Amino acid sequence: MSHTFKGGVHPNYMKAPEIPISVITPPPQVIIPMTQHIGAPCKPLVQVGDYVKMGQKIGENPAPVSAPVHASVSGKVVAVEPRPHPLGDMIMSVVIENDYQDTPCEDLAPLTEEQLKDSEAILERIREAGVVGMGGAMFPTAFKIRGGIGKVDKLIINGAECEPYLNGDHLTMLNYPEQLLKGIELVRIASCVDKAYYGIEKNKQDAIDLLNSLHPEKYGIEIVPEEVKYPQGAEKMQVNAVTGREVKPGGIPSGVGCNVVSTRTCYAIYQACYEGKPVIERIVTVAGSALKAPVNGLTRVGTPFGYLAEQCGGFVKPPRKIVLGGPMMGICATSFDAPNIKGTAGVLFFTEEEDKHVEHPTCIRCGKCITVCPMNLEPVFMYMYYSKGDFENMAKYHITDCFECGSCAFNCPARMPLTHAFKTAKLMFQAKQMKEKAKAEAEAAAAAAKEAKQ
Ligand code: SF4
Ligand code: SF4
Repeated sequence: MSHTFKGGVHPNYMKAPEIPISVITPPPQVIIPMTQHIGAPCKPLVQVGDYVKMGQKIGENPAPVSAPVHASVSGKVVAVEPRPHPLGDMIMSVVIENDYQDTPCEDLAPLTEEQLKDSEAILERIREAGVVGMGGAMFPTAFKIRGGIGKVDKLIINGAECEPYLNGDHLTMLNYPEQLLKGIELVRIASCVDKAYYGIEKNKQDAIDLLNSLHPEKYGIEIVPEEVKYPQGAEKMQVNAVTGREVKPGGIPSGVGCNVVSTRTCYAIYQACYEGKPVIERIVTVAGSALKAPVNGLTRVGTPFGYLAEQCGGFVKPPRKIVLGGPMMGICATSFDAPNIKGTAGVLFFTEEEDKHVEHPTCIRCGKCITVCPMNLEPVFMYMYYSKGDFENMAKYHITDCFECGSCAFNCPARMPLTHAFKTAKLMFQAKQMKEKAKAEAEAAAAAAKEAKQ
């Protein structure tokens, strides 16, 4: 059986896993945003002047969909205020002046042998350690796993890492294979399933061989080699490639009995449970043609992008844009002062060579965008109705089912800004829905008030 999905593209992968992991010296000040996850933002637990230890919890929110944040260095809190966030806007952040002592906080002890076999104890630790989807989605992992218990019979670990440039997952497999297998085993136990399927693209054959040599079956894991194709790493594609099940438009993997957890998330879970270490660092690929010396850097959460660039020897050409994540699905950062967060797998400094912007593109009706869409959508028509602001037809062509993989834009010879348009269209739909909801609520409140008067 060929493990892949319909559609997709083959970009130039530009990967450099041969660059070994280097430890990025933490910056003089780290900026820890209170929002590093989907869900309720954390509230700061510290004040200006407080001394914090490395790994100390400095922000939390008791809401179920949230994840605490921790200090990535030890030192003095010098500001608690809104700072530029990598996803845009100014977000409440705790700024810590690094004392370069890395004095550890020992609030989280490693779990005991017994706890390492207990779903509830593992889930509690995942939450306390602030683990979120580190493939970029940043959904709180404990909540995700808990929601799947009893519904999910197939646990899939995402080892595709199909985005160009990014190497963090591949290097985690090569450098920490045993820890990674133990992390996956923990996710399997927490999910209450007997087996986990680890989908890895065949361009990481060295990692597949290494992991297989460690007898993954001992941990209840089967390695599933996958065809190399973008966007293999998207959750819906992983589900389809590994199980043959199809997540319908608007659906989620748990709707077809699957849960997908990323490689780096499993490794973070290993660290949280076996080492008592919260999420305070991750491997970040720092690359792009503007940069002097790309690195795969073990980087503390809260490291500003400008500082990261300095650690790579600075720029050889002026960067035109900073892309967070990979070039296909990544988003543009607007400030060098914004820091990396838990979900930042890559920071790419691109010049105009990579930024192939066309001033007034014209569609030539070639249909190449349709052939590659893994969601069976028709991007050419979606774009046409988006340009006209025609909500009815945008809905008819299922524009909200687009998950912004960028395959259509990549394959478009006219360089139509398809993905950007669909991102904007989805935001427009969201705004429209919120407006309609607010209107309906106001009308209901007015009707209730009128009835109360009578
Ligand atoms: S329409 Fe959306 S899902 Fe389909 S290829 Fe384009 S970006 Fe990807
Ligand atoms: S690939 Fe580009 S040019 Fe071709 S139909 Fe689609 S939008 Fe038009």
